[in-house]
Amino acid sequence: MSASSLKSETIELMGKLGVSQAALEGGDLAVHSPTNGEKIAEVKTSSAAEIKAQIEKAHEAFKVWRTVPGPRRGELVRLLGEELRASKEDLGRVVSLEAGKIPSEGLGEVQEMIDICDFAVGLSRQLYGLTIATERADHRMMETWHPLGVVGIISAFNFPVAVWSWNAALALVCGNSTVWKPSEKTPLTALACQAILDRALAKFGDAPEGLATMFVAERDGGEVMVDHEKVALVSATGSTRMGRQVGPRVAQRFGRTILELGGNNAGIVCPSADMDMAVRAIAFGAMGTAGQRCTTTRRLFVHESMYDDMVARLKKAYLGVTIGDPLKSDALVGPLIDKDAADNMNKALESAKASGGTVTGGERVDVNGDASYYYRPALVEMPEQTGPMFEETFAPILYVTKYSDFDDALEMQNAVGAGLSSCIFTLNVREAEKFLSAVGSDCGIANVNIGTSGAEIGGAFGGEKETGGGRESGSDAWKAYMRRATNTVNYGTALPLAQGVSFDIE
Ligand code: NAD
Repeated sequence: MSASSLKSETIELMGKLGVSQAALEGGDLAVHSPTNGEKIAEVKTSSAAEIKAQIEKAHEAFKVWRTVPGPRRGELVRLLGEELRASKEDLGRVVSLEAGKIPSEGLGEVQEMIDICDFAVGLSRQLYGLTIATERADHRMMETWHPLGVVGIISAFNFPVAVWSWNAALALVCGNSTVWKPSEKTPLTALACQAILDRALAKFGDAPEGLATMFVAERDGGEVMVDHEKVALVSATGSTRMGRQVGPRVAQRFGRTILELGGNNAGIVCPSADMDMAVRAIAFGAMGTAGQRCTTTRRLFVHESMYDDMVARLKKAYLGVTIGDPLKSDALVGPLIDKDAADNMNKALESAKASGGTVTGGERVDVNGDASYYYRPALVEMPEQTGPMFEETFAPILYVTKYSDFDDALEMQNAVGAGLSSCIFTLNVREAEKFLSAVGSDCGIANVNIGTSGAEIGGAFGGEKETGGGRESGSDAWKAYMRRATNTVNYGTALPLAQGVSFDIE
């Protein structure tokens, strides 16, 4: 496919999704497809004044939306889910075009959006509070959950659409308004999502204007949202570097954050592991999405008794995996997002070699010429956990280290800054349960006989330590999008004070 035909495919697809050609031309932000490096659009970024006005409008919309009953708010998200179902193929293709994901992963991301909409619709009737036993006679104590305000969503390039929907679907049923700043690397998918949402809003009929909007901007646009006092919650997904900046700035004004930051995820392969299962899970976890998932498997600790077998099988997988243009082939590994990602990968591999690592793969593969960055995933045997293993390099590099003692493996797995996802392969119940226990994995996600990546939306998603501590998606993650009020009601005729305190005035 030539450059011009990729651009025309973009225009055609975006048109089908509801974004006009005019919105893709003449703007100040160039959009390049990582599949071949070609410029496929020029979109307009918003100024600080425009962003502030959008936030003010969202705040006005919030004042109306918070009074709409939860199940009615759920209806909007149900309509969004329907629109997403209708647009799944096209939006999935734009994800492949703009973020370079292979087709099944592009479509999978849209499916995740549909799933969270379904979840949120049910949730819209389940925003429960507790009733609590009170120490005073003729009193009732309870919790009420109220809408919070404007939710500012900042998202990363690697899940350009799903992360928005995790936040927006929950925020909207919880009675909030939303303003979204997508990654500057993936504005087209965001424009498409807005067009899809606008159709749902039109069908819904009477939602307040400015309820859920987005803007295109670089980091400075995100900062405007971070600092704005009318943004009650900033839900920011991206690198730990970004979180270190965003967290304190929002805290400074006592705003709330959900931080979903980097991962440096590990797996442990024990002597009893089902090797076929482990190899498949690790291959997907480490090479899938070209290593550009926050939950990508980056470190592997293999028991010495299984090490040679595991490394031999992984080498075969690494040397055999298909690498190619996700728009034209059924290859399993697509491109890195850009040159910076490639430079970071090369740097990490050099550093690993300097630390005694032996690299299999990791070389550049010419798929579509110099302007795109396709790499064979790298398997790096490391004599011990050292050097680049302590960092998240957002590229397909898997470090493998041998262990002999289970507790040492656990310690190595926990000895990094990030705490997002982890897994163990074992048929030994003692090892499995210890891994899941208070002295086991310190991550927000700990799996047994399942890899580190590919979470379902029903569970709470997020991690500890430098991953930021936030939770999104399922379980009770919705509570972060609401404010809690404790209500005590006295239906008696006396006024007993708590803790038996007396304060009698005549
Ligand atoms: P990034 O940190 O470079 O950018 C993420 C977003 O933050 C972008 O929209 C960017 O414009 C914005 N941003 C950056 N600095 C900002 C600031 N100071 N104020 C306001 N906004 C700011 O990340 P990326 O390269 O797009 O994505 C890759 C990273 O995201 C990896 O570290 C990955 O692990 C992480 N990630 C985490 C999760 C998770 O759920 N934990 C999910 C996806 C990606």
